[in-house]
Amino acid sequence: MKVSELFTKTSKTAPADEVAKNAQLLIRAGFVHKEMAGVYTFLPLGLRVLENICTIIREEMDAVGGQELKLTTLQDPEIWKKTGRWDDEAVDVWFKTKLKNESELGLGPTHEEPLVRAVQPFVNSYKDLPFLAYQIQTKFRNETRAKSGVMRGREFLMKDMYSFARTQQEHDELYEKIKQAYFRIFERLGIGEQTFLTFASGGMFSQYSHEFQTITEAGEDTIYVDRAKKIAVNEEVYNDEVLAELGLDRNTLETVRAAEVGNIFTLKDKFSKPLDLVFTDEGGKEQAVLMGCYGVGPSRLVGVITELLADEKGLVWPEAIAPFTVYLAVLGDNSDNNHVRKVADELYSELTSNGVGVLYDDRDVRPGEKFADADLTGIPYRIVVSDKTVAASSYEVKKRTEAQPELMNKDQVLKMVQS
Ligand code: ATP
Ligand code: MG
Repeated sequence: MKVSELFTKTSKTAPADEVAKNAQLLIRAGFVHKEMAGVYTFLPLGLRVLENICTIIREEMDAVGGQELKLTTLQDPEIWKKTGRWDDEAVDVWFKTKLKNESELGLGPTHEEPLVRAVQPFVNSYKDLPFLAYQIQTKFRNETRAKSGVMRGREFLMKDMYSFARTQQEHDELYEKIKQAYFRIFERLGIGEQTFLTFASGGMFSQYSHEFQTITEAGEDTIYVDRAKKIAVNEEVYNDEVLAELGLDRNTLETVRAAEVGNIFTLKDKFSKPLDLVFTDEGGKEQAVLMGCYGVGPSRLVGVITELLADEKGLVWPEAIAPFTVYLAVLGDNSDNNHVRKVADELYSELTSNGVGVLYDDRDVRPGEKFADADLTGIPYRIVVSDKTVAASSYEVKKRTEAQPELMNKDQVLKMVQS
C-alpha cells in the first residue's frame, strides 16, 4: 500500500469531544472514525489491526475444536422472554426496534438464546455432544458510559464461544482447555505479561467465573493482583474468605486499574432448561445440556493495546497485529526516474513479493513529516531510502520502539522483517 494512495491522512489534533487517549490516537493516525459517542468506524489501517486480532482469536478457537458460525443481529423477543431476558429490567442495555406491523425486535447484546435455538434441532442423543460453537460478531449495548473510546462501544465486536457438554466433568475439561487458549491469545497479542486471570463471582452456577484483565490506567475496573502467582481477584470477590481459599495474602496484593478483555463463565442449565436443549443419555434418561460461555472483545483489545503500548510519538503495534510490518520512507527527489526512488521502489516490490506488509511513503513531503507519520502509525519497522543510504549501498532501519536507526544491507533487512 502506498501512502499517496491511502485515502486516510494523519492529523495533528484529535476531536475536542474525544476524551479517551486510545480514540484520540487512533483518530489522529487515521485508524478509526468517530461516528458518535461509543460508535466507531474502523478505517483501512484500523481494520487491518482488528482483523489481525480476530485471526489470532479464530486460530486459537479452531485449535480447541471451535466451530465458527454467525448468528443474526436482529433478535426475536420470543426466545428472550422464555429466559426472562427480554425485560429491560433484567437486561438494561437492550436496543429495541419495531417491524412495520409494530411487533418488537431487539439488536443482539449477547447471543446465548438464539444460539441455543439454532443448535437445538441437532442435539438429541449423548452422541451429538460435546461441541463448541463460536462467532465473531457485532454486539449492540446501550451502555450508560461511553467515555473509554473503542474500549467501551455501544456497537462493538465480540468473539463469543459457547460449550455444550453432557456432564460436569466434560464441561470442566472444556472450560479448562478454553481458558488455556485464552492465555495463548493474549500472549500472541503481545499483552500476556500485563494480562491476569482474575477470579470473579460465578453467579449461581459455579464458585467463580474468570475474567481476563489487562492492567492499564485506562481500565474501568479495580483488581487485586498477585504478580508472582500471576492471578488476581476482582472487587466482587475481594474478601478474606476468597483470599484464603485462593491462597492469597492481602499484604502482597497490588491494587491496580485494569480493563476486562475476556470473560469465561459456567452456565450449567441456565439457558438449556428454559429453551429445552436436552439430550438422551446412555441410560435413556433425558438431561439438560451443560453450557459455558467464553467472550473476548477484539475492538476493546484495539483500545487496550493502544493504551498499553503507545508512547509520546504515537501508536506502537506488536508485530503480530500491526497493520503493516514496514513503513518504507523514500527521501529527497521523488520523481519517477530518480535513482533513489528506483531503489526504494525495488525494495518495496521485493518485500511485498516476500509477503512482508509494507506501507510505502512515496509522498512528496518533508522527511520530518514522514518520520512523524511513521511513528504515529506505530508500524514496527521504519526503513529509510535516501541519497545517503544509496551511497552507502544500504538501508536505514529503525524499530518503532528504539531511538537509534541502524544501517543494513538488503539481506539483513529481509531477515529482520521476516523473523
Ligand atoms: P464489562 O464488565 O466491561 O461491561 P461485560 O462483563 O459486560 O463487560 P461480556 O458480556 O462478558 O462483558 O462480554 C465479553 C467481552 O466483550 C468483554 O470481556 C469485553 O472484552 C467485551 N466487551 C463487553 N462490553 C463491551 C463494550 N461495550 N465495548 C467493547 N467491548 C466490550
Ligand atoms: Mg464484566
